[in-house]
Amino acid sequence: MCGIVGYIGNKEAYPILIKGLHRLEYRGYDSAGVALISEDGDLKIYKSRGKVAELERIMQSKDTGGHVGIAHTRWATHGEPNDINAHPHYSESRNLAIIHNGIIENYALLKEALQANGYTFKSDTDSEVIVQLIEYIQNTNRCSLPEAVRRALRELVGAYAIAIIEKGNKTRIIAARKSSPLVVGIGQGEFFLASDATPIVEHTDKVVYLNNDEIADISLDHGLRIFDIDNNESDIDIKQLQLSISELEKGGYPHFMLKEIFEQPKTITDAIRGRVNVEMTNVVLSGVIDNKEIFINAKRIIIVACGTSWHAGLIGEYLIEDMCRIPVEVEYASEFRYRNPVINKGDIVIAISQSGETADTLAAVELAKSKGAFIFGICNVVGSSIARATDSGAYIHVGPEIGVASTKAFTGQVTVLMMLALTLGHHKGTISQEFYLDKIKHLCQLSEQIADILQLDNQIADLAKIFTYARNFLYLGRGYNYPAALEGALKLKEISYIHAEGYPIAEMKHGPIALIDSEMPTVVIATTDKIYEKTISNIQEIKARGGKIIAIINPDDNIVRKIADYIIEIPRTCEHLSPVLASVPLQLLAYYIAVYKGRDVDRPRNLAKSVTVE
Ligand code: GLU
Repeated sequence: MCGIVGYIGNKEAYPILIKGLHRLEYRGYDSAGVALISEDGDLKIYKSRGKVAELERIMQSKDTGGHVGIAHTRWATHGEPNDINAHPHYSESRNLAIIHNGIIENYALLKEALQANGYTFKSDTDSEVIVQLIEYIQNTNRCSLPEAVRRALRELVGAYAIAIIEKGNKTRIIAARKSSPLVVGIGQGEFFLASDATPIVEHTDKVVYLNNDEIADISLDHGLRIFDIDNNESDIDIKQLQLSISELEKGGYPHFMLKEIFEQPKTITDAIRGRVNVEMTNVVLSGVIDNKEIFINAKRIIIVACGTSWHAGLIGEYLIEDMCRIPVEVEYASEFRYRNPVINKGDIVIAISQSGETADTLAAVELAKSKGAFIFGICNVVGSSIARATDSGAYIHVGPEIGVASTKAFTGQVTVLMMLALTLGHHKGTISQEFYLDKIKHLCQLSEQIADILQLDNQIADLAKIFTYARNFLYLGRGYNYPAALEGALKLKEISYIHAEGYPIAEMKHGPIALIDSEMPTVVIATTDKIYEKTISNIQEIKARGGKIIAIINPDDNIVRKIADYIIEIPRTCEHLSPVLASVPLQLLAYYIAVYKGRDVDRPRNLAKSVTVE
């Protein structure tokens, strides 16, 4: 949440910062701002409520000159999204400017103390406290800016990624992080700073990921130096970026979300590449093989995740229990971390997060680690905090996901979980060779099958038109398709703002069936699996009460085809992979309903991707 960008070098900072903000806008977009140090050393802040385009509009009449600057796109936690609460924030004397991502939990206490010392606060944010505190320490201790930052950070409780610039200082940016991400890009005589690598990749492929409690002193005089909170200098570990710029553009699609839905035939292939051999006789997930004994002897697996990743985790539970005969629990990371869970040696915790920065999931990982569990990460963003905090893991390799509503990451996560269950089940001897080969075959068909489903684009758009004015939706599924129903409902809620609930279909009778009437459309995932007959009975119960049914069916289905009001036909696969295929038409349905409702699909209200605050 929230995007941070910084630049220092010999180029004009403003165009680089604005472009960077656009790249990061998926992280938060309720306000935006920039601070620049002009040629004569003056420190200027410009900011405004609204999206980055609004900031650009007001900047047309401003002096944008300067070679050092910081910029921010906000996802408000403390204080409403307005011009004043937008970042950057000045210190009391207006000598310093700060941008901040995260939450300072003890801000109220610090604010009171600073107010007692004559400091006045302009905003309602927690962030302003940091810059005031730094200035207070600078003034009372007569110390350098990096030293004042270091001392201030010791007083903060909470999460932060910050960047600070100082009036009159055209050669230095100070940055630091704890629990919120920050990356430094290293160019030729210039440095970049950002919440993730997307604003940096078009300038340089050399980056340094800051670790927790590290402070970066970025200077044109002495280059990049990194210190820990105790002032010990750290080694600079330069990594090479693997991102390409074309992956960050819309490529002719009206929205990132649609582009990402359509990328799925390729992203599934990318997730499988190098893990399934060409003869389709073997799956190797090296993160599992390298720790074979730990996995084979695991007493229990706990999957921790949030949102869409939690839905993928539920499918993971079914897959692992089914194929590996290991008890699995799936937990919301935010609940897990605060409820004193029982974790024993011999337990494996699997953390799933697209961004690899989800604050609650990261905290759950740290808790489980401290209790001796082996931690396996399933992330998309290479080098992300969760990926670095785990003992082992598997990337989903689906490329950058910019649309706030996750699509290709979900199908990639389920694909990786399937490969994990197959690898482990095979080595543990809990699945037969025949079963193993059959599932590998289905895995390898997924990509083509998704391409076939995407041909239904127009049909699904027409269907969406019919239901654009629905106020509530139900999504039902059973077995492996139950989490897919949850995910379908979440997609609709996120981007169309229509209330939708996902439910296991047989649970209908225990409550939700009371909601059914002709105004309440129901999406049923009714693929022909072993509980197909039961699903038919449940569909009849809805029909009998006047409900309208949109059914996702397989081509050989002649029963539901006749009962349902509308059908979407998807290719047949094994029940284990059915949620991957079923989720694709549900993504398209949510997408088109949102488009017809005129929603901002890639930037839905109140949401942000990469939830780096609790
Ligand atoms: N807590 C800060 C605020 O509300 C920063 C939020 C963010 O990460 O965007 O301004």
